[in-house]
Amino acid sequence: MITLRGLTKRYGDKTAVDGLSLEVAAGKVTGFLGPNGAGKSTTMRMIVGLDHPSAGEALVGGRRYAGMPRPIREVGALLDAGSVHPGRSARAHLVAMARSNGIPLARVDKVLGLVGLESVAGRRVGAYSLGMRQRLGIAGALLGDPGVLMFDEPVNGLDPDGVLWVRRLMRGLAAEGRTVFVSSHLMSEMQLTADRLVVLGRGRLLTDAPMAEVIARG
Ligand code: ADP
Ligand code: ADP
Repeated sequence: MITLRGLTKRYGDKTAVDGLSLEVAAGKVTGFLGPNGAGKSTTMRMIVGLDHPSAGEALVGGRRYAGMPRPIREVGALLDAGSVHPGRSARAHLVAMARSNGIPLARVDKVLGLVGLESVAGRRVGAYSLGMRQRLGIAGALLGDPGVLMFDEPVNGLDPDGVLWVRRLMRGLAAEGRTVFVSSHLMSEMQLTADRLVVLGRGRLLTDAPMAEVIARG
């Protein structure tokens, strides 16, 4: 479970995330909706521990931010699919991640299979399409078998089959009791995946309600 209490991030005189308080429960998909620039990525980066809050706090499983990224065995995240070294193969990237995080190397082939990249895992990531990079990012999020997963705009760049696959994956992870927090700028996408909807606008919480309630309200 994720708990945010007054979470705030300022960049100079700009407030990207403004006093955000909410709980993201285990066992369901929580959608994080907002237009580009609303502060979704910044919020997710603070939950993962890749960014320091200016004020407030983000707790994961009751634990505070300790000034460093959270272990990928606890929190897996797809944050920026473009951040993988282009000269490395997908397998080499995942092996390096597994080694530096004490994860058994058998997990690498397991997650490559889960995301459907096993046949191309030896190719350099620089030659990958956006959809393949997105799959590799998802493989990285799954590598540590974490209880908490964050996906920032996971369907971006995926083909129609990939979009359906990602939706099934999110639902399956939630059905296993994991905490799944997924962002999108599209309400239509959220309606198809999320059990609960959190809406962010200019860094502020606008809505936090069950999806069925949001739809019934119209
Ligand atoms: P979203 O993910 O909803 O598109 P972001 O969290 O990426 O929104 O950005 C929220 C706001 O914070 C935007 O106005 C963005 O320009 C700003 N911002 C994000 N990261 C930085 C940064 N490193 N330095 C300055 N401003 C930033
Ligand atoms: P580098 O090897 O370049 O120093 P890192 O070891 O910080 O990079 O991260 C390797 C990959 O893991 C990157 O793609 C990064 O986005 C991702 N990553 C870092 N921290 C986490 C985390 N807590 N959960 C999921 N992925 C993460």
